[in-house]
Order: sequence, then structure tokens, then C-alpha cells
Amino acid sequence: MRKKLPSIEALIVGAISICVLLAFFVFIPTAQETSSIAKSVSDSKDSSELSEELEEDLEDLRDRELLFPLQGFTPEGIRDSFLEARGDHLHEAIDIIAPRHTPVVAVEAGKIARLWISQYGGITIYQFDPTTTYAYYYAHLESYAHNLKEQDRVKKGQVIGYVGTSGNAPKETPHLHFTIYKLTDEKHWWEGTPINPYQVYLPSVN
Ligand SMILES: [Zn+2]
Repeated sequence: MRKKLPSIEALIVGAISICVLLAFFVFIPTAQETSSIAKSVSDSKDSSELSEELEEDLEDLRDRELLFPLQGFTPEGIRDSFLEARGDHLHEAIDIIAPRHTPVVAVEAGKIARLWISQYGGITIYQFDPTTTYAYYYAHLESYAHNLKEQDRVKKGQVIGYVGTSGNAPKETPHLHFTIYKLTDEKHWWEGTPINPYQVYLPSVN
């Protein structure tokens, strides 16, 4: 009897050990699987919510009947290069080829949020719309319109700059790099989600 008791104890300890091991190898992975499924469900919900938001923004922007940003030009014939790769990132803008010095106009009324000179964009303008929901971004300018200043209120169609090749634009291909950003709640000119202007100007093509 004395010799059997430890072996019964050993059996109990063994059984407990097996239960613990089972808990680790069976139940915990199950819990992880469940949580990863929950995550992927919430991810897909997020993306459908995102695309719903994008559709609403596109509708909103189309209702505003934005001017085309180049005086004397129309959107017909422009190429949709929004999703094209540019080095290690997406273009997330459209390029409108035009002669150097073509006047660039405010697509909507609003406020000049920032006159910014950057390595890639060159001479650029961030313009907020009247509701501070979006920023319109104009890049590779040759120059700003005379006397244009930050915080200026601009009218729809007002000349704000001129087409050029500043930043990393090829010197022989003057063009306007234009995009729209949906601002975050912070309303920072440097933060936002890019929206394809092509889908605003030429919705029937998509
Ligand atoms: Zn571009």
C-alpha cells in the first residue's frame, strides 16, 4: 500500500498535467482563432465603413461642382493615375499636363491653409474648403499668384498659382499635381485621406 499511494498521487498529478497541457494546446488556440476571426470581421466592417464614407465624400464633392484647377482646361481626356506607383508609394493624385505658366485656379472657395515648399512637391498650396472638411492640394507650381498669403480667403476660380516643374517634376513636362484630402478631426493641413479627383470630375467613367 505504501508503495502504491505515491503512484496514485503521481497519476493524479499526471492527470492534472494533461488537463493543463490540453488547456494550452486545445483551448487557448481556439480562443486565439476566435479572436482573429473577430478581428477580421471587424476589419472588413471597417473597410466597408470606409468605402461608404468615401462614396459619401465623392457625392459631397460632386455636388459642389468643383472647377477644374487649370484655367481653360476641362477634365475630359485626363488620365487616372491615382493608384499608380511612384517609387515606394502610391501617386494618390492626378497629373494634368499643361504649358508652363498656365493659371491654376481655386477649385472651390475657401482658405489658403498653407503655402509649402517641399522636396518632391516643390512649390505647393494646401487650400481648405469653406467647411474645413477637405484640403485641395496643388503641387509643382512655377510660382504663387502675386500677393497670395496663408490664411487668405479665396474665391472659386481665383488664380492662386501657375503651372511649373518645381520639386521632382520632369523639367520638360510642366504639369499640375492635384489631389483632394479628407481632413481629420484635428484639421491639420498635413493630415488627411487622399480622395481621387478623377472620380469627382469624371464619375461616369468609373
Ligand atoms: Zn503627380
